[in-house]
Amino acid sequence: MTLKMKPPQSVTRSATDNTLLASLTPDDLAQICMELEHVHLRVHEVLYEPGEEIDYVYFPISGCVSMVHATGTGTVEVGTVGFEGMVGMPLLLHGSSAPTRALVQVDGEAYRMAAAAFLRIVAMSDSAYRVLLRFALAFFNQVAQSVACNRLHSLEERCARWLLITHDRVEGDEFRLTQEFLSFMLGVHRPAVTLAAGVLQKAGYIHYSRGRIIVTDRAGLEGASCACYQATRDDYAELIGSRSG
Ligand SMILES: [Zn+2]
Repeated sequence: MTLKMKPPQSVTRSATDNTLLASLTPDDLAQICMELEHVHLRVHEVLYEPGEEIDYVYFPISGCVSMVHATGTGTVEVGTVGFEGMVGMPLLLHGSSAPTRALVQVDGEAYRMAAAAFLRIVAMSDSAYRVLLRFALAFFNQVAQSVACNRLHSLEERCARWLLITHDRVEGDEFRLTQEFLSFMLGVHRPAVTLAAGVLQKAGYIHYSRGRIIVTDRAGLEGASCACYQATRDDYAELIGSRSG
């Protein structure tokens, strides 16, 4: 018989900075914490590539990870994960890879665990599985909203929405963001992003300089976004108790 040690208190405490982990029962959390490894998320780091086997699931406690879909004619972000969720959801749904790239968009920290350990724990615990499935539904809903948003709403509204989603997941009002990366995230050419960001800056909602964004008027930015931002935020709050959309 193998005696398993308790996870260090510090791991249990900081792991609950991730909303999903904080939603687990104490027993489930203790099981998962024993398998967690603390890692830094570096900007533009790829956590997994499309079609590649997913080796780890990640529970961010800060920073932001984008799910990015590439086609022959361009690339666009289809969903964002931060401290409210997990990266590696296909494993939960009995898949082994994803059609998207998981790309770090803002530096941060996360806990990760090996795929095999994750699958073992989820198979043993209905309560953990239910919590994680609620996140899967919230994320699916976020992607569905993004599909509609990308087709129906103006670039300026989408830009405001994207900035709000990112702002929710970073500490403070400032984060690093090049126009090139923003155009990549929104799936449009750079001059169009320059125009949209310029409108938001002129209105006083953001300050944009040298690859850094400062959100200067959060309420104004919310007013400039389409309703998709609030819809997703409400959905997350209902399903996983997150304050993020
Ligand atoms: Zn929209």
